[in-house]
Amino acid sequence: MTQKILVLPGDGIGPEIVTEAAKVLDCLRQEHGLDVTLEYGLLGGCAVDELGAPYPEATRHQARAADAILLGAVGGPQWEKLDRPLRPERGLLAIRADLELFANLRPALLYPQLAAASALKPEIVAGLDLLIVRELNGGIYFGEPRGIRVLENGEREGFNTMVYRESEIERIVRVAFEAARKRHRKLCSVDKANVLEVSELWREVIGRVAKDFPDVALSHMYVDNAAMQLVRAPKQFDVIVTSNLFGDILSDCAAMLTGSIGMLPSASLDRHGKGMYEPIHGSAPDIAGKGMANPLATILSVAMLLRYSLNQPQLAGRVEEAVGRVLDQGLRTLDIMASGMTPVGTQAMGDAVVAALME
Ligand code: NAD
Repeated sequence: MTQKILVLPGDGIGPEIVTEAAKVLDCLRQEHGLDVTLEYGLLGGCAVDELGAPYPEATRHQARAADAILLGAVGGPQWEKLDRPLRPERGLLAIRADLELFANLRPALLYPQLAAASALKPEIVAGLDLLIVRELNGGIYFGEPRGIRVLENGEREGFNTMVYRESEIERIVRVAFEAARKRHRKLCSVDKANVLEVSELWREVIGRVAKDFPDVALSHMYVDNAAMQLVRAPKQFDVIVTSNLFGDILSDCAAMLTGSIGMLPSASLDRHGKGMYEPIHGSAPDIAGKGMANPLATILSVAMLLRYSLNQPQLAGRVEEAVGRVLDQGLRTLDIMASGMTPVGTQAMGDAVVAALME
């Protein structure tokens, strides 16, 4: 059955990088029998400009009907002064909440060709391949009560609540166990159980779920140690599962181990495997419209879309191999370029990946 992909180019470099990713999908359709249709929609600042809302009703209909969504990036300085509900980033939060995309998968994979781009020594990061599974719809970012109140002495106090229900913990850790099964069968759960009751419950629930996955080795680590271990010996990890707040911080830390924000894809999944796929970087307004942006994170997001939502692991592998071959050929956009190299533009990089796919 033909599957529907909703493409949301977004703002800034979004349309440029998504054009290259769409070329890859077109090539897979024409050359490798992928049975999909692409439909385009508006999210973020462009949606505010055209339809008056960052996640307009029309996009909501399209998103609900799609089998998977490919997003470029949203945001930019021209929308920063708008009221909060109209800001592009609100569109992103709204679509994630509307589709109940609770599981955020962020791989940090360092292509050996780019080992020199990392701030860490090559021997520490060469061959790095880890996956962070972050809970995305709960925890302290959404917990109530929250706010700023005035105390009796007139001083103001800010407060938030870190809260997880057992069912929320169970659904995210199951995603992580399943992901570990498809990789090296090692899962590290990161928490702060020495201080937080919510982490104590997290540990109890994951321990219970682990009984259904006897083939996956489960370990536990406190978040402060995990941050240290990520920069000390990151190759010890296969899959990490953690809450919204801890995952937000650790996944950015893991991203920087690879040296380039322009190389990293991500997936946000619902309980049925429907997902939204996007590069981890933003809309890069400083280079938008210049044809300089690295499209590889978006192209690798297509690979994740094929693997996790369309159940096409072989095609996903082909895309990842094509990216590797292009790097072998020495092609680099400005962000991943070493000294002495000549950079290629966004379009040339996309064309090279398509050519590698046709080989
Ligand atoms: P950013 O990721 O857009 O850019 C950070 C730096 O990385 C910039 O120098 C940029 O040029 C560079 N960069 C990013 N992607 C690149 C690519 N593909 N190729 C080459 N270089 C690349 O982060 P920012 O500057 O903090 O944010 C810019 C806008 O993006 C803001 O409006 C922010 O809110 C938004 N944002 C959106 C998302 C999203 O859509 N998921 C994520 C983060 C930030």
